[in-house]
Amino acid sequence: MKRSEGYRRALLKISGEAMSGERDYGFDKDGISRIARQIEIARNAGHELGIVIGGGNILRGREAASVGVPPLAADHMGMIATVLNGLALRWALEELSVKSRVMCAFPVGHFVEEADSEQAKDYLSKGFVVIFSGGTGNPCFTTDSAAALRAVEIDADVVIKATQVNGVYDKDPHVYPDAELYEYVTVEEALEKRLGIMDAAAIEILGRKRIPTIVLSLHENGNIQRALAGEKVGTLMVS
Ligand code: UDP
Repeated sequence: MKRSEGYRRALLKISGEAMSGERDYGFDKDGISRIARQIEIARNAGHELGIVIGGGNILRGREAASVGVPPLAADHMGMIATVLNGLALRWALEELSVKSRVMCAFPVGHFVEEADSEQAKDYLSKGFVVIFSGGTGNPCFTTDSAAALRAVEIDADVVIKATQVNGVYDKDPHVYPDAELYEYVTVEEALEKRLGIMDAAAIEILGRKRIPTIVLSLHENGNIQRALAGEKVGTLMVS
């Protein structure tokens, strides 16, 4: 069953943990290739894709803070971790002949462009995948907030949060076999019930800007493309 006529331009949020595949930490070739392949399928179907990549497979601010790095500096380290992931993803896409550009919220070097929404939209309309790294560029935020922000900046028709499970459940499906998948949730429900779709700041922005958000599994091949074509996949959050 179709949910909509489909979406042309999407902002895809991928957490760092997907980059480490079956491992607990760092990079895994199969994990990265799986992400790249899903992006390739969606791109080849004609969708425009901006991607916000997390950094949790390398470092989250609270982990660095726990070894004595001051909290703000720990967040700086976390944001830099996302740049490493952005570059790794770019070159995995290149292997599949998918052209991409990596941007960052702060200056890094000539091999990573500084985030610029007009330039990003120009790349997207020319068929490049644009990977946004560096989060929002500010400590105390997450890459979920960055995803909401970039979605607004590139005029995305939809946000897709690709995760390890196939949508949002009323309770943890790994613990409770009778957990039920939500097909739809409203922004108000997501905030009230703390459904963990994204952090509250991100949900609030997406709700205010009326950008639909789909939570789906990264592990089913072609899922992202199907959701972008308007098929019923995962959980759809609407305002
Ligand atoms: N971070 C930050 N500001 C941002 C985005 C990220 O300070 O706008 C830092 C924060 O320390 C976070 C880390 O970067 O823990 C990695 O990002 P995140 O935890 O969102 O990655 P994910 O869980 O999606 O892999």
